[in-house]
Amino acid sequence: MTFKTFLIKYGEIGIKGKNRYLFEEALVRQIRHALKAVEGEFDVRREQGRIYVDCLSEYDFDETAEALTRVFGIVGVCPVVVTEDTGFEDLARVVIDYVRQMYPDLNQTFKVDSRRARKNYPLASMELNAALGERILDAFPDMRVDVHTPQILLSVEIREKIYLYSRVIPGAGGMPVGTNGKAMLLLSGGIDSPVAGYMIAKRGVKIDAVYFHAPPYTSERAKQKVVDLARIVSRYSGPIMLHVVNFTDIQLYIYDQCPHEELTIIMRRYMMRIAEHFAKESGSLGLITGESIGQVASQTMQSLAATNEVCTMPVYRPLIGFDKQEIVDVSLKIGAYETSIQPFEDCCTIFVAKHPVTKPNVNVIRRSETKLAEKIDALVQTAVETAEKIWIE
Ligand code: ATP
Ligand code: MG
Repeated sequence: MTFKTFLIKYGEIGIKGKNRYLFEEALVRQIRHALKAVEGEFDVRREQGRIYVDCLSEYDFDETAEALTRVFGIVGVCPVVVTEDTGFEDLARVVIDYVRQMYPDLNQTFKVDSRRARKNYPLASMELNAALGERILDAFPDMRVDVHTPQILLSVEIREKIYLYSRVIPGAGGMPVGTNGKAMLLLSGGIDSPVAGYMIAKRGVKIDAVYFHAPPYTSERAKQKVVDLARIVSRYSGPIMLHVVNFTDIQLYIYDQCPHEELTIIMRRYMMRIAEHFAKESGSLGLITGESIGQVASQTMQSLAATNEVCTMPVYRPLIGFDKQEIVDVSLKIGAYETSIQPFEDCCTIFVAKHPVTKPNVNVIRRSETKLAEKIDALVQTAVETAEKIWIE
Protein backbone atom coordinates (compact mmCIF):
# COMPACT_ATOMS: atom_id res chain seq x y z
CA MET A 1 0.00 0.00 0.00
CA THR A 2 1.41 3.41 -0.85
CA PHE A 3 0.95 6.38 1.44
CA LYS A 4 1.29 10.02 0.54
CA THR A 5 1.06 11.41 4.06
CA PHE A 6 2.40 10.70 7.54
CA LEU A 7 0.66 11.91 10.66
CA ILE A 8 3.19 12.81 13.34
CA LYS A 9 2.20 12.07 16.94
CA TYR A 10 4.04 13.94 19.65
CA GLY A 11 4.04 13.99 23.42
CA GLU A 12 1.80 16.47 25.16
CA ILE A 13 3.71 16.75 28.42
CA GLY A 14 4.62 20.27 29.39
CA ILE A 15 3.51 21.82 26.13
CA LYS A 16 0.80 24.22 27.00
CA GLY A 17 0.20 27.76 25.84
CA LYS A 18 3.19 29.51 24.34
CA ASN A 19 5.47 26.55 24.98
CA ARG A 20 3.32 24.38 22.81
CA TYR A 21 3.87 26.72 19.89
CA LEU A 22 7.65 26.71 20.42
CA PHE A 23 7.62 22.94 20.78
CA GLU A 24 5.75 22.48 17.51
CA GLU A 25 7.92 25.01 15.67
CA ALA A 26 11.07 23.20 16.81
CA LEU A 27 9.59 19.84 15.91
CA VAL A 28 8.71 20.98 12.39
CA ARG A 29 12.22 22.38 11.98
CA GLN A 30 13.81 19.11 13.12
CA ILE A 31 11.54 17.05 10.87
CA ARG A 32 12.50 19.20 7.87
CA HIS A 33 16.15 18.77 8.75
CA ALA A 34 15.84 14.99 9.10
CA LEU A 35 14.08 14.74 5.72
CA LYS A 36 16.80 16.72 3.94
CA ALA A 37 18.90 13.56 3.87
CA VAL A 38 16.05 11.52 2.38
CA GLU A 39 15.51 11.35 -1.35
CA GLY A 40 12.20 12.86 -2.43
CA GLU A 41 10.25 16.04 -1.95
CA PHE A 42 8.34 16.57 1.29
CA ASP A 43 6.14 19.22 2.78
CA VAL A 44 5.82 19.49 6.55
CA ARG A 45 2.72 21.31 7.73
CA ARG A 46 0.98 22.13 10.97
CA GLU A 47 -2.76 22.07 11.11
CA GLN A 48 -5.15 22.13 14.09
CA GLY A 49 -2.63 20.85 16.59
CA ARG A 50 -1.41 18.15 14.22
CA ILE A 51 1.74 17.83 12.17
CA TYR A 52 1.65 16.15 8.79
CA VAL A 53 4.37 15.20 6.35
CA ASP A 54 3.12 15.15 2.76
CA CYS A 55 5.21 13.22 0.26
CA LEU A 56 5.14 15.26 -2.95
CA SER A 57 7.23 12.92 -5.07
CA GLU A 58 8.29 9.28 -5.22
CA TYR A 59 9.97 8.29 -1.97
CA ASP A 60 11.26 5.26 -0.13
CA PHE A 61 8.85 4.36 2.66
CA ASP A 62 11.33 2.64 4.98
CA GLU A 63 13.99 5.31 4.63
CA THR A 64 11.48 8.09 5.26
CA ALA A 65 9.87 6.38 8.23
CA GLU A 66 13.31 5.67 9.69
CA ALA A 67 14.37 9.30 9.37
CA LEU A 68 11.17 10.40 11.10
CA THR A 69 11.58 7.95 13.96
CA ARG A 70 14.97 9.50 14.74
CA VAL A 71 13.46 12.94 15.43
CA PHE A 72 13.21 13.67 19.15
CA GLY A 73 9.77 14.77 20.29
CA ILE A 74 7.94 12.32 18.02
CA VAL A 75 6.20 9.47 19.83
CA GLY A 76 4.63 7.89 16.78
CA VAL A 77 4.70 8.04 12.99
CA CYS A 78 1.45 7.03 11.31
CA PRO A 79 1.19 6.42 7.58
CA VAL A 80 -2.27 7.79 6.75
CA VAL A 81 -4.72 7.57 3.92
CA VAL A 82 -6.17 11.01 3.23
CA THR A 83 -9.48 11.18 1.45
CA GLU A 84 -11.96 13.89 0.53
CA ASP A 85 -15.30 13.83 2.32
CA THR A 86 -17.67 12.69 -0.41
CA GLY A 87 -20.19 10.98 1.81
CA PHE A 88 -20.37 7.96 4.10
CA GLU A 89 -20.64 5.36 1.32
CA ASP A 90 -17.37 6.50 -0.24
CA LEU A 91 -15.70 6.56 3.16
CA ALA A 92 -16.86 3.01 3.92
CA ARG A 93 -15.39 1.85 0.61
CA VAL A 94 -12.06 3.50 1.37
CA VAL A 95 -11.98 1.94 4.83
CA ILE A 96 -12.71 -1.55 3.54
CA ASP A 97 -10.14 -1.20 0.83
CA TYR A 98 -7.61 -0.04 3.44
CA VAL A 99 -8.29 -2.99 5.74
CA ARG A 100 -8.01 -5.44 2.86
CA GLN A 101 -4.64 -4.09 1.76
CA MET A 102 -3.13 -3.62 5.21
CA TYR A 103 -4.29 -6.86 6.79
CA PRO A 104 -4.22 -9.80 4.41
CA ASP A 105 -4.80 -11.99 7.47
CA LEU A 106 -8.36 -10.98 8.20
CA ASN A 107 -8.87 -13.23 11.19
CA GLN A 108 -8.24 -10.40 13.66
CA THR A 109 -10.06 -8.28 16.19
CA PHE A 110 -10.60 -4.58 15.55
CA LYS A 111 -12.12 -1.42 16.84
CA VAL A 112 -13.01 1.77 14.97
CA ASP A 113 -12.01 4.94 16.80
CA SER A 114 -13.38 8.00 15.07
CA ARG A 115 -12.89 11.57 15.98
CA ARG A 116 -15.06 14.32 14.62
CA ALA A 117 -12.90 17.42 14.64
CA ARG A 118 -15.25 19.04 12.10
CA LYS A 119 -18.54 19.35 13.93
CA ASN A 120 -20.74 19.73 10.88
CA TYR A 121 -20.09 16.12 9.88
CA PRO A 122 -23.53 14.43 9.89
CA LEU A 123 -22.57 11.47 12.10
CA ALA A 124 -21.35 11.71 15.69
CA SER A 125 -18.20 9.79 16.54
CA MET A 126 -20.07 6.92 18.18
CA GLU A 127 -22.45 6.63 15.26
CA LEU A 128 -19.59 6.60 12.80
CA ASN A 129 -17.76 3.91 14.83
CA ALA A 130 -20.83 1.70 14.73
CA ALA A 131 -21.62 2.32 11.06
CA LEU A 132 -18.05 1.67 9.87
CA GLY A 133 -17.73 -1.34 12.21
CA GLU A 134 -20.81 -2.84 10.66
CA ARG A 135 -19.49 -2.38 7.13
CA ILE A 136 -16.20 -4.02 8.07
CA LEU A 137 -17.99 -7.01 9.62
CA ASP A 138 -20.11 -7.35 6.49
CA ALA A 139 -17.08 -7.27 4.23
CA PHE A 140 -14.85 -9.54 6.36
CA PRO A 141 -16.91 -12.09 8.30
CA ASP A 142 -13.80 -13.49 10.01
CA MET A 143 -13.08 -10.24 11.80
CA ARG A 144 -14.47 -9.55 15.26
CA VAL A 145 -14.95 -6.41 17.30
CA ASP A 146 -12.96 -6.03 20.52
CA VAL A 147 -13.38 -2.62 22.11
CA HIS A 148 -10.84 -3.27 24.92
CA THR A 149 -7.72 -4.77 23.35
CA PRO A 150 -8.25 -4.83 19.59
CA GLN A 151 -5.46 -6.16 17.38
CA ILE A 152 -6.28 -3.44 14.88
CA LEU A 153 -7.22 0.02 16.12
CA LEU A 154 -8.58 1.87 13.14
CA SER A 155 -8.45 5.63 13.63
CA VAL A 156 -10.67 7.85 11.52
CA GLU A 157 -10.29 11.59 11.90
CA ILE A 158 -12.87 13.83 10.32
CA ARG A 159 -11.25 17.16 9.54
CA GLU A 160 -11.38 19.29 6.40
CA LYS A 161 -10.43 16.01 4.77
CA ILE A 162 -10.70 12.55 6.33
CA TYR A 163 -7.63 10.79 7.71
CA LEU A 164 -7.47 7.05 8.16
CA TYR A 165 -4.72 5.09 9.90
CA SER A 166 -4.05 2.10 12.11
CA ARG A 167 -0.31 1.66 12.11
CA VAL A 168 1.76 3.66 14.60
CA ILE A 169 5.51 3.29 14.15
CA PRO A 170 7.12 4.12 17.53
CA GLY A 171 9.13 7.35 17.54
CA ALA A 172 12.23 8.35 19.46
CA GLY A 173 10.35 10.15 22.24
CA GLY A 174 12.03 12.99 24.09
CA MET A 175 11.67 16.65 23.16
CA PRO A 176 12.51 18.48 19.91
CA VAL A 177 16.10 19.68 19.80
CA GLY A 178 16.16 23.43 20.26
CA THR A 179 13.52 23.57 22.99
CA ASN A 180 15.99 23.32 25.88
CA GLY A 181 19.07 25.39 25.15
CA LYS A 182 22.50 24.18 24.16
CA ALA A 183 25.35 22.23 25.78
CA MET A 184 28.94 21.34 24.94
CA LEU A 185 29.72 17.62 24.64
CA LEU A 186 33.24 16.38 25.38
CA LEU A 187 33.36 13.87 22.56
CA SER A 188 36.09 11.24 22.44
CA GLY A 189 36.38 8.21 20.23
CA GLY A 190 34.96 5.84 22.82
CA ILE A 191 31.60 4.20 23.34
CA ASP A 192 30.36 6.45 26.13
CA SER A 193 30.49 10.06 25.02
CA PRO A 194 28.41 9.67 21.82
CA VAL A 195 25.73 7.96 23.91
CA ALA A 196 25.89 10.80 26.46
CA GLY A 197 25.40 13.36 23.68
CA TYR A 198 22.47 11.41 22.27
CA MET A 199 20.78 11.27 25.68
CA ILE A 200 21.04 14.98 26.38
CA ALA A 201 19.95 15.88 22.83
CA LYS A 202 16.93 13.64 23.42
CA ARG A 203 15.78 16.11 26.09
CA GLY A 204 15.66 18.87 23.50
CA VAL A 205 19.16 20.25 24.03
CA LYS A 206 21.15 21.38 21.03
CA ILE A 207 24.67 19.95 21.03
CA ASP A 208 28.09 21.30 20.18
CA ALA A 209 31.21 19.19 20.72
CA VAL A 210 34.87 19.42 21.55
CA TYR A 211 37.53 16.79 20.87
CA PHE A 212 41.10 16.91 22.20
CA HIS A 213 43.69 15.24 20.07
CA ALA A 214 47.43 14.94 20.46
CA PRO A 215 49.14 14.60 17.11
CA PRO A 216 51.43 12.84 16.35
CA TYR A 217 50.69 10.69 19.41
CA THR A 218 47.13 10.24 18.26
CA SER A 219 46.52 9.59 14.59
CA GLU A 220 44.55 11.37 11.90
CA ARG A 221 42.33 8.31 11.81
CA ALA A 222 41.47 8.71 15.48
CA LYS A 223 40.31 12.22 14.64
CA GLN A 224 38.35 10.96 11.64
CA LYS A 225 36.65 8.45 13.95
CA VAL A 226 35.48 11.30 16.20
CA VAL A 227 34.20 13.21 13.17
CA ASP A 228 32.32 10.06 12.14
CA LEU A 229 30.85 9.70 15.63
CA ALA A 230 29.79 13.35 15.65
CA ARG A 231 28.02 12.72 12.36
CA ILE A 232 26.18 9.72 13.85
CA VAL A 233 25.05 11.80 16.85
CA SER A 234 24.01 14.61 14.49
CA ARG A 235 21.55 12.27 12.76
CA TYR A 236 19.54 12.65 15.96
CA SER A 237 20.67 15.98 17.37
CA GLY A 238 20.86 18.01 14.19
CA PRO A 239 24.01 19.91 13.14
CA ILE A 240 26.98 19.95 15.53
CA MET A 241 29.85 22.42 15.61
CA LEU A 242 32.84 20.22 16.46
CA HIS A 243 35.87 21.95 17.97
CA VAL A 244 39.08 19.97 17.48
CA VAL A 245 41.70 21.12 19.96
CA ASN A 246 45.36 20.32 19.61
CA PHE A 247 46.22 19.17 23.11
CA THR A 248 49.75 17.87 22.49
CA ASP A 249 51.79 20.68 24.00
CA ILE A 250 49.59 20.86 27.08
CA GLN A 251 49.88 17.12 27.60
CA LEU A 252 53.64 17.14 27.14
CA TYR A 253 54.01 20.03 29.55
CA ILE A 254 51.90 18.32 32.22
CA TYR A 255 53.93 15.14 31.60
CA ASP A 256 57.14 17.10 32.21
CA GLN A 257 56.04 18.99 35.28
CA CYS A 258 53.60 16.86 37.26
CA PRO A 259 53.65 13.45 38.97
CA HIS A 260 52.74 10.83 36.39
CA GLU A 261 50.10 9.16 38.50
CA GLU A 262 48.19 12.47 38.47
CA LEU A 263 48.50 12.99 34.72
CA THR A 264 45.04 11.84 33.76
CA ILE A 265 43.27 13.94 36.37
CA ILE A 266 45.22 17.08 35.55
CA MET A 267 44.73 16.54 31.84
CA ARG A 268 41.04 16.11 32.35
CA ARG A 269 40.87 19.30 34.41
CA TYR A 270 42.42 21.19 31.48
CA MET A 271 40.01 19.54 29.06
CA MET A 272 37.12 20.79 31.18
CA ARG A 273 38.52 24.30 31.39
CA ILE A 274 38.99 24.53 27.62
CA ALA A 275 35.61 22.94 26.92
CA GLU A 276 34.04 25.52 29.20
CA HIS A 277 35.76 28.30 27.28
CA PHE A 278 34.13 27.14 24.03
CA ALA A 279 30.84 26.53 25.80
CA LYS A 280 30.70 30.12 26.99
CA GLU A 281 31.76 31.42 23.60
CA SER A 282 28.89 29.62 21.85
CA GLY A 283 26.16 30.21 24.43
CA SER A 284 26.11 26.69 25.88
CA LEU A 285 24.59 26.32 29.33
CA GLY A 286 26.48 23.22 30.43
CA LEU A 287 29.05 20.54 29.63
CA ILE A 288 28.31 16.89 28.85
CA THR A 289 30.61 13.94 29.44
CA GLY A 290 30.28 10.18 29.12
CA GLU A 291 31.49 9.50 32.64
CA SER A 292 30.00 6.75 34.79
CA ILE A 293 30.89 6.17 38.44
CA GLY A 294 33.73 3.75 38.94
CA GLN A 295 34.20 2.80 35.30
CA VAL A 296 37.92 3.63 35.30
CA ALA A 297 40.40 5.28 37.69
CA SER A 298 39.51 8.74 36.41
CA GLN A 299 35.84 8.15 37.19
CA THR A 300 35.87 7.30 40.89
CA MET A 301 33.87 9.67 43.07
CA GLN A 302 37.11 11.36 44.14
CA SER A 303 38.32 11.71 40.56
CA LEU A 304 35.00 13.09 39.41
CA ALA A 305 35.10 15.60 42.26
CA ALA A 306 38.64 16.65 41.28
CA THR A 307 37.65 17.05 37.62
CA ASN A 308 34.43 18.82 38.47
CA GLU A 309 36.13 21.33 40.72
CA VAL A 310 37.47 23.44 37.84
CA CYS A 311 34.06 23.84 36.18
CA THR A 312 31.81 26.79 36.84
CA MET A 313 29.07 25.44 34.57
CA PRO A 314 26.91 22.44 35.36
CA VAL A 315 28.40 19.21 34.01
CA TYR A 316 25.78 16.78 32.77
CA ARG A 317 26.75 13.12 33.02
CA PRO A 318 23.74 11.20 31.75
CA LEU A 319 25.52 7.82 32.02
CA ILE A 320 26.54 8.30 35.62
CA GLY A 321 24.54 5.33 36.91
CA PHE A 322 24.80 3.11 33.83
CA ASP A 323 26.67 -0.18 33.65
CA LYS A 324 28.87 -0.64 30.59
CA GLN A 325 26.45 -3.10 29.01
CA GLU A 326 23.59 -0.63 29.34
CA ILE A 327 25.70 1.99 27.57
CA VAL A 328 26.61 -0.51 24.85
CA ASP A 329 22.92 -1.27 24.33
CA VAL A 330 22.16 2.39 23.60
CA SER A 331 25.28 2.68 21.46
CA LEU A 332 24.05 -0.25 19.34
CA LYS A 333 20.57 1.22 19.14
CA ILE A 334 21.80 4.55 17.80
CA GLY A 335 24.22 2.92 15.36
CA ALA A 336 27.42 4.25 16.95
CA TYR A 337 28.91 1.04 18.34
CA GLU A 338 30.63 -0.23 15.20
CA THR A 339 32.42 3.09 14.82
CA SER A 340 33.23 3.43 18.53
CA ILE A 341 35.03 0.09 18.68
CA GLN A 342 37.35 0.85 15.77
CA PRO A 343 40.84 0.43 17.20
CA PHE A 344 42.17 3.99 16.93
CA GLU A 345 43.12 5.26 20.35
CA ASP A 346 41.86 8.70 21.31
CA CYS A 347 44.62 9.05 23.87
CA CYS A 348 48.24 8.04 23.61
CA THR A 349 49.33 5.31 26.01
CA ILE A 350 52.48 7.18 26.99
CA PHE A 351 50.24 9.66 28.76
CA VAL A 352 48.49 6.97 30.77
CA ALA A 353 50.26 6.18 34.04
CA LYS A 354 50.75 2.56 35.11
CA HIS A 355 49.29 3.32 38.53
CA PRO A 356 47.04 6.37 38.26
CA VAL A 357 45.67 7.79 41.50
CA THR A 358 42.19 6.51 42.10
CA LYS A 359 41.49 8.75 45.07
CA PRO A 360 43.01 12.07 44.13
CA ASN A 361 43.07 14.75 46.77
CA VAL A 362 41.98 18.04 45.29
CA ASN A 363 44.52 20.01 47.34
CA VAL A 364 47.36 17.80 46.14
CA ILE A 365 46.21 18.15 42.54
CA ARG A 366 46.00 21.92 42.88
CA ARG A 367 49.50 22.04 44.29
CA SER A 368 50.79 19.94 41.36
CA GLU A 369 49.13 22.31 38.94
CA THR A 370 51.08 25.26 40.40
CA LYS A 371 54.13 23.71 38.76
CA LEU A 372 52.55 24.57 35.42
CA ALA A 373 52.30 28.29 36.23
CA GLU A 374 55.07 29.43 33.93
CA LYS A 375 53.68 28.34 30.58
CA ILE A 376 50.22 26.85 30.96
CA ASP A 377 48.16 29.99 30.32
CA ALA A 378 49.96 30.63 27.06
CA LEU A 379 49.60 26.99 26.03
CA VAL A 380 45.87 27.01 26.78
CA GLN A 381 45.46 30.24 24.85
CA THR A 382 47.26 28.80 21.83
CA ALA A 383 45.17 25.62 22.01
CA VAL A 384 41.99 27.70 22.05
CA GLU A 385 43.12 29.97 19.23
CA THR A 386 44.27 27.18 16.94
CA ALA A 387 41.24 24.95 17.44
CA GLU A 388 39.75 23.73 14.20
CA LYS A 389 35.98 24.11 13.88
CA ILE A 390 34.20 21.52 11.80
CA TRP A 391 30.52 21.88 10.96
CA ILE A 392 28.93 18.45 11.07
CA GLU A 393 25.50 17.76 9.60
P1 ATP B 1 34.52 7.33 26.14
O1 ATP B 1 34.01 5.98 25.83
O2 ATP B 1 33.51 8.37 25.92
O3 ATP B 1 35.83 7.62 25.45
P2 ATP B 1 35.93 6.54 28.45
O4 ATP B 1 35.29 5.45 29.15
O5 ATP B 1 37.07 6.27 27.54
O6 ATP B 1 34.80 7.35 27.68
P3 ATP B 1 37.52 8.58 29.74
O7 ATP B 1 38.56 8.44 28.73
O8 ATP B 1 37.85 8.57 31.19
O9 ATP B 1 36.34 7.55 29.59
O10 ATP B 1 36.75 9.91 29.47
C1 ATP B 1 35.62 10.28 30.21
C2 ATP B 1 34.89 11.34 29.44
O11 ATP B 1 35.76 12.46 29.21
C3 ATP B 1 34.48 10.90 28.05
O12 ATP B 1 33.23 10.22 28.07
C4 ATP B 1 34.43 12.20 27.31
O13 ATP B 1 33.22 12.89 27.59
C5 ATP B 1 35.59 12.97 27.93
N1 ATP B 1 36.83 12.78 27.15
C6 ATP B 1 37.82 11.89 27.37
N2 ATP B 1 38.80 12.01 26.46
C7 ATP B 1 38.43 12.99 25.61
C8 ATP B 1 39.00 13.59 24.44
N3 ATP B 1 40.17 13.19 23.94
N4 ATP B 1 38.33 14.58 23.83
C9 ATP B 1 37.12 15.01 24.32
N5 ATP B 1 36.55 14.48 25.41
C10 ATP B 1 37.17 13.49 26.05
MG1 MG C 1 37.90 7.56 26.07
